[in-house]
Amino acid sequence: MRRIGLLGGMSWESSALYYQLINEGVRDRLGGLHSADLVMVSVDFAEIERLQSDGDWDRAGELLAAEAVHLERAGADCVVLCTNTMHKVADRIQAAVRIPLLHLGDVTARAVLSAGITSVALLGTRFTMQETFYRDRLEQHGLRVIVPAPPAQAELNRIIYDELVRGIVDAGSREVYQRAIADLVGQGAQGVILGCTEIELLIGPEDSPVPVFPTTALHATAAVDFSLD
Ligand code: GLU
Repeated sequence: MRRIGLLGGMSWESSALYYQLINEGVRDRLGGLHSADLVMVSVDFAEIERLQSDGDWDRAGELLAAEAVHLERAGADCVVLCTNTMHKVADRIQAAVRIPLLHLGDVTARAVLSAGITSVALLGTRFTMQETFYRDRLEQHGLRVIVPAPPAQAELNRIIYDELVRGIVDAGSREVYQRAIADLVGQGAQGVILGCTEIELLIGPEDSPVPVFPTTALHATAAVDFSLD
């Protein structure tokens, strides 16, 4: 078994789900008492969120790169960065270590394509939806990516930072996401990427008329495959 390195805490609500899903994945594949060989560093999300708001991606990249080095020194064979948004600094993190970073954009794009989907909606934080770092990565795989209009983006982003990263799961907010999904399907989306690792705490397949792609679950599966294959 290769050792998985989780770079988490962004937020811990989704990192807890990573931990559970990776252990379940190893158990399902190996049976018996098997569980994952992993190490985790978990950062203080308040500090990361402040750097995001200040636009200080340099400092955020430096901080996360240093944590990836800690994972490597602890024997990790890969880095799993447990957030879509912070993939904005994925190159910086990868450059700091010799072990591979399992890029969430690649993992997600492969899952979407293997479902036979070429036009996909992307939901996430305002950084993930508005900026190019994540969309470009998906588009490099040949996907057409559709994002919500700016007013909807603002509301979806607010729900992530005011509720989901704080462990608040609200029925009214679920309806906001359902409406955004319906709108994007109306614009031609054949699938929906839940491109923030907390969204799957709120939204499941039953909330969408088209397939959803939960990034925490997909990333966890990729980590298990990396560890065992
Ligand atoms: N977990 C979220 C994501 O996947 C948002 C938290 C963060 O800003 O890192 O993008």
